[in-house]
Amino acid sequence: MYKAKAYSAASATSSMASTTIPRRDATENDVQIEILFCGICHSDLHSVRNEWSEFMPTEYPIVPGHEIVGRVTKVGSAVTKFKPGDLAAVGCMVDSDGTCPECRAGFENFCPNMVLTFNSSDKHLGGVTYGGYSESIVVDQRFVLRVPSNLNLAGTAPLLCAGITTYSPMRRWGVANGKKVGVVGLGGLGHMAVKLAHAFGAHVVVFTTSPNKKEDALRLGADEVVVSRNADEMQKHVESFDFILDAVSADHDINAYINLLRRDGNLTIVGAPPKPLGVSAFGLIMRRRSFSGSNIGGIAETQEMLDFCGKHNITADVEVIPIQKVDEAYERLLKSDVKYRFSIDMASLKSE
Ligand SMILES: [Zn+2]
Ligand SMILES: [Zn+2]
Repeated sequence: MYKAKAYSAASATSSMASTTIPRRDATENDVQIEILFCGICHSDLHSVRNEWSEFMPTEYPIVPGHEIVGRVTKVGSAVTKFKPGDLAAVGCMVDSDGTCPECRAGFENFCPNMVLTFNSSDKHLGGVTYGGYSESIVVDQRFVLRVPSNLNLAGTAPLLCAGITTYSPMRRWGVANGKKVGVVGLGGLGHMAVKLAHAFGAHVVVFTTSPNKKEDALRLGADEVVVSRNADEMQKHVESFDFILDAVSADHDINAYINLLRRDGNLTIVGAPPKPLGVSAFGLIMRRRSFSGSNIGGIAETQEMLDFCGKHNITADVEVIPIQKVDEAYERLLKSDVKYRFSIDMASLKSE
């Protein structure tokens, strides 16, 4: 065991502060990584403030962060995938049982014994796992991803959650050249969805409530932008979409989007509105449409996503901040005041 610098919250109402945490010494299958950048995901904030206490109560102190990019400093004797000096990345999970049907099918993200990167039981040291707001992390090589060398590292970090969250449902529902794809909401997830759908060759339409996002949406790769409050604009797209990705976490009328799907079209939701959504059965029945959810992706698919981003030179649009500004970043996140993701430069932790 060794001590690592980190940033943590001591309670649901405390601000984030510098601390030290224990990390295990690398076992034979482990990769030790010096963390260079960690993205800020909305779930960091939910967990820090214990807002998901019903199904995922937070154990304090919490060290959040699951969009991790860094450099390998040490590997265990059985590690074949990495050597010291390699770039490496870690996403939302750090372990699973490896034996259940989900794991065997490559869906570690749905394994009943999956271990999340933070606030999950730590079988090595006891207590809970600590995430990426730290100078280093030790992870089993099965859960460490390779990073394409051409990508900007600060912008690569958010690919590990926002990237795979949007990539996986697009692969699941066959987004490709010639398909018409809608993206609802242009935030951290939505802006990744636009870039990825564009790279897949789809015709991309962004739905937004703010007309001032139009220029940005087009720059990110959208072919059209629809202001969702404008009924005439919405009407023009009725029954025309193959796939719509809904990344809105606030209450909204989902039926307005389901009606834009063609026969057998699918709408997948990756945002998490706190209250149940009212879905009209008729909207689904009449054109054999489907409505789904999706949650990150398996390890093989996450690697596929990173390789795809390397090939198409895709990273998130980020605002790089020092770790000392994380509380301020959380407040701005609540106001959607970021284009489009915060990425923490972990070198800033050295001065603590
Ligand atoms: Zn996340
Ligand atoms: Zn499993």
